[in-house]
Amino acid sequence: MAQLIYLNGELVERERAVVSVYDHGLLYGDGVFEGIRAYHGRVFRLDEHIKRLERSARAIMLDLPLSHQELVEATVETCRANNIHDGYIRLVVTRGEGDLGLDPRKCPEPTVIIIAANIQLYPPEIYEKGLSLITCSTRRNSPSSLDPGIKSLNYLNNILAKIECTNAGVVEGIMLTNSGMVSECTGDNIFIVMGDELITPPVEAGILDGITRAAVIELARDEGIPVREKLFPITDVYTADECFLTGTAAELVPVIEVDARIVGDGKPGAMTKRLLNRFRELTNSEGTPIYE
Ligand code: PMP
Repeated sequence: MAQLIYLNGELVERERAVVSVYDHGLLYGDGVFEGIRAYHGRVFRLDEHIKRLERSARAIMLDLPLSHQELVEATVETCRANNIHDGYIRLVVTRGEGDLGLDPRKCPEPTVIIIAANIQLYPPEIYEKGLSLITCSTRRNSPSSLDPGIKSLNYLNNILAKIECTNAGVVEGIMLTNSGMVSECTGDNIFIVMGDELITPPVEAGILDGITRAAVIELARDEGIPVREKLFPITDVYTADECFLTGTAAELVPVIEVDARIVGDGKPGAMTKRLLNRFRELTNSEGTPIYE
């Protein structure tokens, strides 16, 4: 079956799903996006993803051409058209076609793209063995220049850090804030466990307000685990009892080594495993149905 892409209100075959070379999403990374998961025929936390897209769009003064409900419906419709049960959805809104200048007023119509694809999962063994990370020398964007809370198409900051990871032979890396505290990873949020407490950097530190991060905080509180949002230095990761990352694609993935230093006892920890199980129960049981 041919893949169908939602493009400006129509479902078109992948080969015909093309945008102008004058689109400011391409020319300047001027746009916003979301990465969303579907599990067992339901879209996980779709409302939250659309809300974050709306916040990102508002932050860059981009008027979304679709209402909240229309975006929900277009996403679900694209999944249905592609017979997606377990998949990954990419929702992109660019400033649209303009001229070669920066001025967004030259772009009258935003471009709306929804791609629903069958997922390429992280290999199952990383959930059993855990990941090795590095600390990247590329610092996370300062919120005073480009707020990392805006999920914009401008991912070059993270891409430079990702290249460092690849060169070091690892799949993820920790990015520090401009003042040298832990912020997040190139495409995931970070948590550490110290004693019985779960700690993660606060959104104000200049991180993406992750949907998975919020779900894990909820689950932890529900389990009676104390959660603290605070800034911490990289040394706290080295000396933590456990460390894990959260993200739509990664879900909740244990970390066992950072900068060639063993974290905890070098195995996925008990709290990490407990929260991963709870997270899997959640993704198995809630979501917006694709097929009524
Ligand atoms: N941080 C960054 C920089 C990301 O790109 C992502 C993935 N969207 C995350 C964190 C995790 O966010 P979420 O749980 O909403 O996917």
